[in-house]
Amino acid sequence: MTEEPFVILRAQILSVGTELLIGQTLDTNAHFLAQQLTELGISTYRHSLVGDNEKRLEEDMKRALQDNDLVITTGGLGPTEDDVTAEVACGIFNKKLIPMDEVTPYPAVPEGAIIFQNDNGSAPGSLILAPFEGSMKALLLLPGPPDEMEPMFSNYVKDELARHTPYSFIHRYVRLYGIGESQAERMAHDLITFQDEVTIAPYASPTEVIFRVSQRIANGEDKTEPVVQALLSLFGEHVFEVGKRPLEQVVLDGLLRRGLKVAFAESLTGGLAASTLASVPGASEVLAGGFITYNDAMKQRLLGVSPKLLSEYGAVSEEVARAMAEGCRLKTGADIAVSFTGIAGPTGGSEKTPVGTVWIGMAEKDKDTQSFVYHFTGLRNRIRLRAVYHGLNLIRKRIESR
Ligand code: ATP
Ligand code: MG
Repeated sequence: MTEEPFVILRAQILSVGTELLIGQTLDTNAHFLAQQLTELGISTYRHSLVGDNEKRLEEDMKRALQDNDLVITTGGLGPTEDDVTAEVACGIFNKKLIPMDEVTPYPAVPEGAIIFQNDNGSAPGSLILAPFEGSMKALLLLPGPPDEMEPMFSNYVKDELARHTPYSFIHRYVRLYGIGESQAERMAHDLITFQDEVTIAPYASPTEVIFRVSQRIANGEDKTEPVVQALLSLFGEHVFEVGKRPLEQVVLDGLLRRGLKVAFAESLTGGLAASTLASVPGASEVLAGGFITYNDAMKQRLLGVSPKLLSEYGAVSEEVARAMAEGCRLKTGADIAVSFTGIAGPTGGSEKTPVGTVWIGMAEKDKDTQSFVYHFTGLRNRIRLRAVYHGLNLIRKRIESR
């Protein structure tokens, strides 16, 4: 007789840590894991949060196991006194906590569990597959620090969980920039409404709008391609990626492929543009450098913007944006230089130049300098972020048209 495979359909994410409960740390683990479970086709029924307290953790863990096939905890796995997750889990499943290595008695892991190595820290993850109150359950214990948990999940845990999911899914991502979420949804309305086997789910952040195109594979036939093509023809040049790359990565790859170097002259963005590009591995190949010229004196001294332009038009103006970009290109020798000058607010706006006004200049070797004006809404840092991504998107469109 062959054993029925254990199937995971519903899950709960249980974040453990007093620092989360009191608002000191944002629970990004739940956010990450919920996305991953969705990709695996496992439904997340609940997110919950509990402090580093044995009794309450035990209560919550039991309740979560009663209600779900899979419970994922993060946090409280380390060797310190307040790290009690593994002990509590072992208590519930009546298992021993055994040292991983006899020489260094910590970290300990539940006996019989599947162990996931931690490439970025000390506490390993573990997956207990065992009966609880008469039915089979999965309890996955993961470390708290996101830079340990996320790679562990992606590299080791995901494949293990996929063995217990009833379906496999194809997920594809069509990523857009330069179009608002509601407009994008309106435009894709018919496609979304008439979806059948393939589902289309839009979601948005300040840096992109994404359409996730998903299909549950029944007989192995991939039907996502016509839907992706329909989105591509609907959104045209707004689409910067079909896949996993964020805009900064697409820009970096595009520059790299063409052997181009870029530089930034930043006022309101204060280095955020250079920093965003520098966050992508390989940035040194394409990022020449940049200037943070917050006040007029620095715009003059570092970029050679003339005092006359500044006094005549003001720092937030087309003329100054162009001069900043041109100065930046000359000083750095970059192929493309992009400048940002604007009013991030909340104060400093005027009737002529309200908060949210941003000028972006783009200077290129042997080409006419271009300038663009935007009126962003929202709070200060959202305006700064939008400015940066608009700048990146301009670079993308520029190089794609070369
Ligand atoms: P360590 O071995 O580092 O002690 P741990 O598994 O015991 O790991 P915790 O001590 O609970 O984890 O948390 C360590 C740190 O990880 C926290 O201070 C916090 O910065 C971060 N962290 C924990 N849980 C989360 C979460 N849900 N979301 C984001 N960050 C978290
Ligand atoms: Mg800890």
